[in-house]
Amino acid sequence: RFITFEGPDGAGKTTQIKKLAAYLKEKEKPFLLTREPGGTRISDAIRSLILHPGHTEMMKETEVLLYAASRAQHVREKIIPALEKGVIVLCDRFVDASIAYQGYGLEIGVQKILEINDFATGGLTPDRSYLLDISPEQAQKRLIARSGETLDRIEQKGIEYHKQVRYGFLELYKQHRDRILLLDGHQSEEAIFSLIKKDFESI
Ligand code: C5P
Ligand code: MG
Repeated sequence: RFITFEGPDGAGKTTQIKKLAAYLKEKEKPFLLTREPGGTRISDAIRSLILHPGHTEMMKETEVLLYAASRAQHVREKIIPALEKGVIVLCDRFVDASIAYQGYGLEIGVQKILEINDFATGGLTPDRSYLLDISPEQAQKRLIARSGETLDRIEQKGIEYHKQVRYGFLELYKQHRDRILLLDGHQSEEAIFSLIKKDFESI
């Protein structure tokens, strides 16, 4: 099974994916915990290129292709081989993030992102996606509160960008209610995780 976690920065997806990983570990179920952009040596190098706070001149077309390139490597080098072995794959972000951030946020359009990513992934889609929703105001507060972490290039973009990204995620949810479970990121970590666990056990 291929499970993804999605949502705006600061929504709590990384916390929740770690909880699900710990739960699987306890149950001795084999899993792979991975993330995008990144997940392989090459993909991590691409991640640094994209997120470097100094790379302010990056064109949006370049950004779209770099996310897709990172994903192409990740899918083939790690995700597909794991799924073929029967390992549960938990991935922090996938194509939905590109639709929300670049499709809506950068106004590239959903269709273009789908075409490029279809080539990148060879058509691989998640079996289930957990979408954590958060208001941009609350998200901003959480990002600032993360002590010691400097904001990456995307996180540094203004609240208007992040509002569009959130809108994009919610539009995606409306179109894929069968695949995506929408969760309210303002709820407590425990409350959210119990919903994820219940859902995960039912699929
Ligand atoms: O998930 P994480 O926050 O580590 O992702 C790193 C950064 O990449 C985030 O700031 C996110 O906004 C950005 N991102 C993006 N488009 C994607 C995936 C991630 O802008 N498709
Ligand atoms: Mg982030």
